Amino acid sequence: MEDFLIILSLVSLIYLFERKLYKISSALIHIFFSLLFLSIFEFFKIKYSLSEFFCIMQDLIGVSLIPAIFSFSEDFYGKKKNYKKRFLISLPLFFLIVINNIIFHKQLVNSKPSNFFLVFYALIIIILSFKNIFKANVEKKVKINILIIFLSLFGYYAYSTITNNFNIPIILLLTLISFIIIEFILLRKSWIKVLEDAKENLILNISDGIILVDKNNYVLDLNKPAQKIIGKEFNQIINRKLEDNFKNGQIIEKNGKYYSIEVIDFEKGSIYYFRDVTKEMKYSKRQEIANILFHNLFNNIPDPLALVTPSGKIVDCNSAFTKTFGYKKLENIENIVPDYLKEESKILILQILKKGHVSYETVRKSKSGKNIFVRIYASKFEIENQTFIYIIYSDISKEKKLSQQISNLIEKDPLTKTFNKVYIIKRLKNLKPLFYHSLIFIDIKDFQRINSLKGNVFGDKVLKIVANKLKECTNYIISRAHADEFWILAEELDIDVKKAYSKNKELILHIDNCLKNIKVDDTSLKFHIGTYIFKNDENIDEVIRKTSLSLSRSKDEDKIITYSKEIEDEIRKELEKEIQIKKAIEKGEFIPFFQPIATHNMEIVGAEALIRWVKDGKVIPPFEFLDFLEKTGLIEQASKQIFENVCKLLSKTKKLKFVDVNISPIQLKNTNFSKDYLKILEKYNIQSSQITIEITENLFIDYNDIVRENLNLLKSEGFKLCLDDFGTGYSSLNYLRNIPFDIIKIDREFISNIDDEKNLNLLKAIYSIAESFKMGAIPEGVENEKQLEILTVIGFRLFQGYYFGKPMPESEFLSILS
Ligand code: C2E
Ligand code: MG
Ligand code: MG
Repeated sequence: MEDFLIILSLVSLIYLFERKLYKISSALIHIFFSLLFLSIFEFFKIKYSLSEFFCIMQDLIGVSLIPAIFSFSEDFYGKKKNYKKRFLISLPLFFLIVINNIIFHKQLVNSKPSNFFLVFYALIIIILSFKNIFKANVEKKVKINILIIFLSLFGYYAYSTITNNFNIPIILLLTLISFIIIEFILLRKSWIKVLEDAKENLILNISDGIILVDKNNYVLDLNKPAQKIIGKEFNQIINRKLEDNFKNGQIIEKNGKYYSIEVIDFEKGSIYYFRDVTKEMKYSKRQEIANILFHNLFNNIPDPLALVTPSGKIVDCNSAFTKTFGYKKLENIENIVPDYLKEESKILILQILKKGHVSYETVRKSKSGKNIFVRIYASKFEIENQTFIYIIYSDISKEKKLSQQISNLIEKDPLTKTFNKVYIIKRLKNLKPLFYHSLIFIDIKDFQRINSLKGNVFGDKVLKIVANKLKECTNYIISRAHADEFWILAEELDIDVKKAYSKNKELILHIDNCLKNIKVDDTSLKFHIGTYIFKNDENIDEVIRKTSLSLSRSKDEDKIITYSKEIEDEIRKELEKEIQIKKAIEKGEFIPFFQPIATHNMEIVGAEALIRWVKDGKVIPPFEFLDFLEKTGLIEQASKQIFENVCKLLSKTKKLKFVDVNISPIQLKNTNFSKDYLKILEKYNIQSSQITIEITENLFIDYNDIVRENLNLLKSEGFKLCLDDFGTGYSSLNYLRNIPFDIIKIDREFISNIDDEKNLNLLKAIYSIAESFKMGAIPEGVENEKQLEILTVIGFRLFQGYYFGKPMPESEFLSILS
């Protein structure tokens, strides 16, 4: 009977655990392993009777219940299955059985100490199980109920064990009932409610549509979205046949929304699940539009466009690209970066990758090797974690050509096709540091005169020829900066100053050599050259000033001048002198000294006014300042002052028939000269016949229309004209023929060497020439009586020289007059 009960309990237990298969497996595993160990252990020793075997079975089932409860609690809590732990828990019980049955041949029920241990052990396991139940995520009510059931079960287990009423079938039965209560009444009810709530909520609140139909397609239930999708109210469709024939995977459009349909068939019917895919559809529509747009743009954009990898490989391009770069197909495209720009291209790609986009002007080459100016606009983008760069190449060749033409207009001299000053200055601003560079100024000597004598056309021809010669001669930048001034900029001569100087010297000598012997028609050209060596950090105005300075020095000294500090000092001194002289003019420090002109019997009839600078009581002779006055043009002002003094003297005395005044060629080149002198004459009410204008021969180097007009006016106004220093120039006689001189002044060379017979004869000849031209003749530099006697014998009537008096101040002169 007992055995039958055990078998019955086992079957019930199996049924119970069948619902949760893992539990029966746990229990069976315990039993199976325990039996296995026991059999191995006892194989050779004892042979069990069937009733003995059942006794062991009874024990095993009894003690296995405790680990089974623990497993249940763990599953209930939702822990991961931990077989090792479960096995360890059941191990003490196994040994208990072994000790009882095999060593003492007793059933557990008959062993008191073992039973106490069993109860104690069961208590621990139950407490551990409680912990799991407490943490379980079920209603509190359910938890409490389970705890009560477990406690009562344990209570009975403990009671029967300690009182030796350990009746396995009854315990099993009780356990069975307990689990049925837990499973069916407590948990099932609670879980089903939650599940149903969840399902209902899910179906009602989901934005997707759900329709439930039976096998015959009659609608059993549907949610609100589904009603909208099929366009019918709940009452209009429920329990009626669903007319639409929806298919799995189909996409339908309803009320501006898109739904994908999923049909889930089950035993008693089907579920139609309408998933709202409007967003995806719109996105993919947009994507499609964007794709079309991109392809359209890519292919039809008028500028060449290429898709490039960060390594510079072209992976795609449009038709404008292939056309511009002369390729037929994408596959043929070689590298379009010219060799010399390889590095630049690499840097460009790095910049694009760093900054995201770059705009840049550069050169790319076509298939035929032709360089094309392009403005690049490049930007990077990513597709599936791969970086690409798209590059638009706008062809700016025409733009470049135009800007070249414009810069030619601005920077080139149209006549000589060399650059102009603007360009040189631009280059000067962008010189390389560290290097020494040089600027060379070349000026055509007397170009002004060539131009005025031979005309502008000839002048232009000269400039062109010189420019071409310079172009042949050097590769440095050549420009025509002013009328006849060429500038050459020799960049990057050397880093070493000495080498730079010697290279520049070589260059200048070479240029000078090239320019030598240039002849345009019959005119041979000569040049002035000035140069300056400098570094990029020097002010450009200073560089130009210093080179100009060397050029003007070169004009003065008639040789090539390289700028140096000394030149600067000299010029500074000259400047200071100029300032001093200007002040002296303002102060009236330039005054005439008067040297008598007398007859052979010492009667003073006239005088020559000779300029002196009386500075702080010191008398400075003309050779110290005259050249300077002429060079600076200050001679005009100084001479006017002298002339005014002469007029003043003449207004003071009636004893003088005439006074000679010296005129510089520079004055005669001024159109206003004779008019100004006439005004002064009028101011002091002096007769023009009392003034003799002395002109030296060197005037005729620059004899021109203005000079002629001035002389004619003076002559017609009654002034006397005198050729000074007669006999020292080359063609004194020639001048006599062209200019209506009244008097000649014979140079004192002839007089000082009067003992020489040749000289004497020349003097005689000069006298008779003067006579035949009806001109007066005055010998200069008469220093003694002997000279006077000889000159008187020849026939001269008037004389000048220290014998009659040295040049003296006005007051002194007036006193010897009276
Ligand atoms: P010049 O017109 O031939 O003047 C005569 C020069 O001979 C004067 O020199 C005079 O001092 C010098 N002289 C006169 N008699 C004798 C003599 O017996 N023995 C010697 N050894 N010398 C004698 P100075 O005054 O030094 O003038 C030099 C030159 O400067 C002048 O030569 C003239 O060409 C120029 N000059 C003088 N004053 C003026 C002026 O106001 N304007 C211009 N443009 N030139 C002037
Ligand atoms: Mg004179
Ligand atoms: Mg003289």
